[in-house]
Amino acid sequence: MTDLRHTAKRPAHTEIPRPKRGEGQWALGYTEPLNKNEQSKKDDGPLNVQARILNIYSKRGFASIDPADLRGRFRWMGLYTQRAPGFDGGKTAMLEEEELDDEFFMMRVRSDGALLSHDAVRALGTIGVDFARDTADVTDRENIQYHWIRIEDVPAIWERLEAAGLSTLEACGDSPRPFLGSPVAGVAKDEIIDGTAALEEIKRRYIGNPDFANFPRKFKTALTGHPSHDVAPEVNDIAFVGTVHPEHGPGFDLWVGGGLSTNPMLAQKMGVWIPLDEVADAWEGVASIFRDYGYRRLRSRARLKFLVQDWGVEKFREVLENEFLGRKLVSCPSPPSPVGHRDHIGVHEQKDGNLYVGIAPTAGRVSGTMLVQLADLIEQYGVAGARLTPYQKIVLVGVSPDVVDALVEALDGIGLSARPSGWRRNTMACTGIEFCKLAIVDTKNRARDLVAELEKRFPDLDVPITVNVNGCPNACARTQVADIGLKGQLVMSDGEQVEGFQVHLGGATGLNANFGRKLRAHKVTSKGLDDYITNVVNAFLADREDGESFATWVAR
Ligand code: SF4
Repeated sequence: MTDLRHTAKRPAHTEIPRPKRGEGQWALGYTEPLNKNEQSKKDDGPLNVQARILNIYSKRGFASIDPADLRGRFRWMGLYTQRAPGFDGGKTAMLEEEELDDEFFMMRVRSDGALLSHDAVRALGTIGVDFARDTADVTDRENIQYHWIRIEDVPAIWERLEAAGLSTLEACGDSPRPFLGSPVAGVAKDEIIDGTAALEEIKRRYIGNPDFANFPRKFKTALTGHPSHDVAPEVNDIAFVGTVHPEHGPGFDLWVGGGLSTNPMLAQKMGVWIPLDEVADAWEGVASIFRDYGYRRLRSRARLKFLVQDWGVEKFREVLENEFLGRKLVSCPSPPSPVGHRDHIGVHEQKDGNLYVGIAPTAGRVSGTMLVQLADLIEQYGVAGARLTPYQKIVLVGVSPDVVDALVEALDGIGLSARPSGWRRNTMACTGIEFCKLAIVDTKNRARDLVAELEKRFPDLDVPITVNVNGCPNACARTQVADIGLKGQLVMSDGEQVEGFQVHLGGATGLNANFGRKLRAHKVTSKGLDDYITNVVNAFLADREDGESFATWVAR
């Protein structure tokens, strides 16, 4: 195993006082593991589990898996055990996570903003059909997520993914999680800068690199050169956001310390200018700060956002420049507020005369079969490829104007509309109780039914209202930054605990980035959700001023 405490670059430290009670920061000498996760990573490098899956576990079956691998290191290979059927949300709180383990796995495939050819989309679809009971969800980290995976099938799945240029490596775990890249990189007419090469370089250097495989916790990266800031940079640990320096031209500002979950924080803008070919170095610097100075005592404080909050962005920049980059960054005003809708739904002109087409599954749910059908259409209509989006959508890139009408028609036919209702367009849902061991409530099916009902009740709504449905406080579908953010929990109804949600109202990313208000009284049963949202929307429609958005109305 590579033990970073001994091999990592150890530059001279700036004056950062050693806290009286150690937070487990390696750079300050606190190198002894302070919890079982840290111990497990010290016992054996998480990436080593790949060989054991290939050579032992897939041959000998589920029962042969070392529990430390099963509940720890498997995540570095994009594998989690899924929730065993038959446990309702009430049981989640009473049982240890391992008691909810099924013998099947959830598997995440990272796309990292890459353009997926028809062959790659077909490979993703056939894996769903052949190994995952036809499941395949598009997640808001630009992944494809399968369920019902057997350990015996993992080597065959990896082989197919590799042939398609795809991988599950470090799709979970305390690692550089899947990157969010602009779905319209390189083609959008209004793009500031195409960051594709930088994302590819970060991936080439650091994914699967043992020196960057043991962070205090997950490390989420986003990069975009599109003026809509279409990768939710506000809620990532590190984000590169396209900007123009008055002398040097297009480059990227660096934002650090965003994240949601139970202590939500928006990323802080560093106000610098980084050219395309220096993005990977800057990523390494920030990732190294997180690795060496990040808090490792408590898992709940082990995200980069806590360090950024404690240091402040000035000190963070100073440490980055002095200890890790060895040079000063160029200052530059942060980019202007984002413009335009970030989801790219519908038909749009590209800079080369072709078109891109954004399509909307409902709450990210597709299937293996649907992906195979999509691959057939991509091939049939000569489309360059598909990208997944941070909003659980898909964008088809490089569509000839000659075929676009027929393509849009055909997409409708397979359930992937380029002209969805506002509700379908603006609703996301996390995995929820169907498969997630941490979930308290159902999300995907609830969101599907909600969308269908709201489409009937408000068929002509003229403003977007985003609804993010989450199965627990972890906010994987970004509870706090939706107009109507729903956090799954048990609520009382007629003296009984039933599935329901705490409501957060008026959150947003982008222009008015802001966390939704958590209103104590606004708790709703899952059953009563359609009526609750109907009442809120009716109140908004009756009271709004001309052109007023939902979030602005809530803030009044
Ligand atoms: Fe699971 Fe909770 Fe994340 Fe939903 S928000 S996927 S329930 S951990």
